Amino acid sequence: MRLLIMGPPGAGKGTQAVLIKEEYQIPHISTGEMFREAIGNNTCLGIKAKDYIDKGELVPDDVTNELVKERLKHEDTKGGFLLDGYPRTLNQAFALDIILSEFGIFLDAVINVYVPSSIIIDRIVGRRVCPSCGAGYHIKTLKPKVSGICDACGHKLIQREDDTEEIVVNRLRVYEERTKPLLEFYNQKGLLINIDGNGDIIDIFKRIKHTLGGMNDNV
Ligand code: ADP
Ligand code: ADP
Ligand code: ZN
Repeated sequence: MRLLIMGPPGAGKGTQAVLIKEEYQIPHISTGEMFREAIGNNTCLGIKAKDYIDKGELVPDDVTNELVKERLKHEDTKGGFLLDGYPRTLNQAFALDIILSEFGIFLDAVINVYVPSSIIIDRIVGRRVCPSCGAGYHIKTLKPKVSGICDACGHKLIQREDDTEEIVVNRLRVYEERTKPLLEFYNQKGLLINIDGNGDIIDIFKRIKHTLGGMNDNV
């Protein structure tokens, strides 16, 4: 399956992406993760992206489109993929259409995870991540077995620098202005699936699986 997962920051995209990736055996491609990795490795891309990410702004479209295009050339995407956090602007959505048509492939569905804004800030401010393996936790709703330590790899967990309340407010504004219009774009294409992102993580995943269920034949 070729899928996008969309939703405001903190909606639970990354959390659901891990489960979708396992279920459908497709790579999880998160532009945010790719930027953070580039920043960690101090590459040219990382240096370019850091200023934007630190302010809660979007990295410019041309840089982001090129990154995704190169990633989609990898062999592991032949059986499908899950794009998380891309596209985030209409220009990126147009660019993705061109990339996919060049590769002769189509999207199967766009999953939109929606949650009330009242819980978003709590989710983001309480988010902790493993800088080594990328696993995500929450200080209240998804605690690691040993406080501050990744269950999967034993590394010390961190709070993302852009997960402060101040930057989150800007990220939510950017989402409303620049990313939300994409929902209508994909709705008009008949690809949009709206999933209630409130509640238990496994229940939300079941909603996604149930909706995608009938589509599995397209793989
Ligand atoms: P996104 O990728 O959309 O920014 P994440 O998947 O990182 O969001 O989730 C944001 C935070 O909320 C994380 O700390 C995660 O553990 C937590 N979280 C995700 N889904 C749920 C849920 N259904 N209920 C409670 N907390 C959740
Ligand atoms: P979240 O799901 O919590 O919003 P991400 O990890 O997806 O966080 O993204 C973190 C940051 O990386 C964004 O705030 C933005 O600065 C940058 N970023 C990620 N994806 C894109 C994209 N498609 N276009 C532009 N900037 C992006
Ligand atoms: Zn880890």
